[in-house]
Amino acid sequence: MPKEPSALPTIKVSPRGTTRLKEGHVWVYRSDIVSADGATPGSLVCVSDHRGKLLGTAFYSSSSQIAIRMISPDLVTDFPALLRQRIAAAIAYRESLVRNTDAYRVIFSEADFLPGLIVDRYADIFSLQILTQGMDADPVRQTLLSELTTRLQPTSVIERVDPRVRELEALPPRATGPLQGQKTATTFTMNDVQFRYDAQEGQKTGAFLDQRENYAATAQYARGDALDVFCYQGGFALHLAPHCSHVTGVDSSRPALEVADQNAALNSREIEWIEANAFDLLKDYSSSDRRYDTIVLDPPAFAKSKRDLDAALRGYKELNLRALKMLRTGGTLITCSCSYHVSQSNFLEVLADAALDAHRTIRLIEVRGQAKDHPVLLNIPETAYLKCVIAYVS
Ligand code: SAH
Repeated sequence: MPKEPSALPTIKVSPRGTTRLKEGHVWVYRSDIVSADGATPGSLVCVSDHRGKLLGTAFYSSSSQIAIRMISPDLVTDFPALLRQRIAAAIAYRESLVRNTDAYRVIFSEADFLPGLIVDRYADIFSLQILTQGMDADPVRQTLLSELTTRLQPTSVIERVDPRVRELEALPPRATGPLQGQKTATTFTMNDVQFRYDAQEGQKTGAFLDQRENYAATAQYARGDALDVFCYQGGFALHLAPHCSHVTGVDSSRPALEVADQNAALNSREIEWIEANAFDLLKDYSSSDRRYDTIVLDPPAFAKSKRDLDAALRGYKELNLRALKMLRTGGTLITCSCSYHVSQSNFLEVLADAALDAHRTIRLIEVRGQAKDHPVLLNIPETAYLKCVIAYVS
């Protein structure tokens, strides 16, 4: 039932919050809320400036520091209808831009104007993440499921629950599991490489779809002896294998390496997997005479918050310094950072420093970001997080 506009509670935001929204951002922090009378956890709210002028419609969270996430600059009275439109727009965007894969992000939260909602497609299995009180509501879930089913016909839809997120949003605990269908494992293909997928296991929603285009780019330059550090289930290593004489993947997670090995078999590739702490291994290898023609560094996010920035930069510097020392002249370094708090210029500065210390020259071949199905909205800087630099090292 559409609600009358007057039925929505109104939230007033401070001049600072108003400026942020006028600049195109969609978040208002709790400290910029002037009044929130009648707003219940996860409710749809009307947002106004401190004088009462309408700024749009948002979801309210009673517990997150991000108190409101805008869903429209207009008054929205029928959210399910808006949700259906937004899903259609998100699918149309992917249909026009995503190529050579049956695994991609269908909905990317703020970047698709659906804050708090992530949907990833792995062939016939869809993985869903709900990150806010607003998106957790039953009518939202029902509309989402029916729209995805009608438009894309998944065999099953699995919800992946991050207990920490539910705690932060003061939502009751829930288990990871199927919302629709029974199938939880499948095989997907990207850039003609096949991967096993188990919707109930693994990190993120299962694979690192945001690197898909970087895998393909990397494959163009890879050759000789290759080392894929922080290889997880072998994303880079499997793309390197057809072009390299020998590929070694390193990760500290045994379960990830087990899947990596299955993936190698699935693609009839010989790859050596080493379970190790990458920092220790790079320290040993760089001080011995091990040399490579291609090295990939794709560590986990070192800066989870702004406070971690300095330590993160030191971590990136150490890894890159060691990798640079180990590359043969004319070798290729593929180095990534998925920390939002480390900007592209921070990252390039770290690389420049590492090159000076290693007495090597870096020529930038490509400075890349996340795959197109993880769109970056220019006015929402938080939507851009992945950096992938491909460099010629001499
Ligand atoms: N390159 C991968 C994604 C890497 S995610 C891909 O394209 O799919 C980061 C990986 O780093 C995870 O698999 C995690 O298990 C691993 N990891 C985290 N800390 C590590 C450490 N100290 N040494 C080695 N691996 C580590």
